[in-house]
Amino acid sequence: MKAVRWGLIGATNIAKTQVIAAIRADGGEIVNVMSSDAARGAAYARENHIPHSTTSLKALLSSDIDAVYISTTNNLHKRQHMAAVAAGKHILCEKPLTLKLADARAMVDAADKAGLVMATNHHLRNAATHGAMRDAIAKGRIGKAIFARVCHAVYLPAHLQGWRIKDTKTGAGVALDITVHDADTLRFVLGEEAVSVSAMVQNSGMGHSGIEDGIMGTMRFESGLLAQFHDAYTTRYARTSFEVHGTEGSLYAQDCMTQNPIGSVTLRDKDGEHALELAHENLYLRGVRAFHKAIHGKGQVLASGEDGLRSLAIALSALRSAKSHREVSIQY
Ligand code: NDP
Repeated sequence: MKAVRWGLIGATNIAKTQVIAAIRADGGEIVNVMSSDAARGAAYARENHIPHSTTSLKALLSSDIDAVYISTTNNLHKRQHMAAVAAGKHILCEKPLTLKLADARAMVDAADKAGLVMATNHHLRNAATHGAMRDAIAKGRIGKAIFARVCHAVYLPAHLQGWRIKDTKTGAGVALDITVHDADTLRFVLGEEAVSVSAMVQNSGMGHSGIEDGIMGTMRFESGLLAQFHDAYTTRYARTSFEVHGTEGSLYAQDCMTQNPIGSVTLRDKDGEHALELAHENLYLRGVRAFHKAIHGKGQVLASGEDGLRSLAIALSALRSAKSHREVSIQY
């Protein structure tokens, strides 16, 4: 397979810590990086062994690249995505895809119409833990799934305490940052759609100007299943977990809402407790590998643009619910 040539839009932490290595591990080449700051972009290119840097999106898109990875702040994704589509580049876009549902729809439609591969970087569905839970549910090992509980409350490390907690125009706050991941992972594991959501938000001092740094809520799914979610930037010692409770058994995943290929899943049923077998592998590498293959016409991306749109719809509805104090039905 010919190596996929990439341009990075945004000289970012997530590209540096995860995605650059994942692209290279699957044989991709990173040709150019765009940053709004020439000196920072050049330093980033040097540190990450990227041959070119630029401050111009046009220049990046004119380089000899097949695909772009968009990981700027959330308010910039749509404009950069549309420019990439116009230039005929395949797109891996970070979550949340953008800030408004209509904009996400426009992004997905534009990529579809142009025949380009579009993926959303929802890495958590690539985790061995979540794949094993999805399989167990699909095989009927817990009977009919009726409840789920996601704990994705973490502590936002000091080096990430920037735009996420300070800058409302970027789509700051825990809902667009973390609840989107819960929404995607729930849809993936359960194999069904959320129809409504009810939520409350909290500000316990980390979020500036009232930006929410915690959220708890409940999503109602098509089958009637109820899923609780708890997301936060402020819990230093909480463990992450994902549970699904069915009529014939319960699944307990621990330490699974993370960037790392770790965690365990236990099935409890009438015969006792059984650890599910897990084939752990780097979550981002799995996503990039499928993206590379899709570009070569082999198979589908693991999380599509439509998946990104749906997780955004759920998180935006959760915020609307918190504001209106009502259960909100989710329109996709
Ligand atoms: P960063 O804070 O690292 O970068 C965001 C933007 O801030 C960049 O576009 C960059 O601008 C600018 N920036 C970065 N460093 C500096 C600096 N030292 N001084 C001034 N400006 C700076 O973002 P993250 O990597 O944390 O997140 C980026 C995107 O990725 C978001 O959409 C986020 O939601 C998503 N994300 C996804 C994860 C996942 O696992 N799927 C995990 C983490 C984030 P410029 O473009 O000019 O270089």
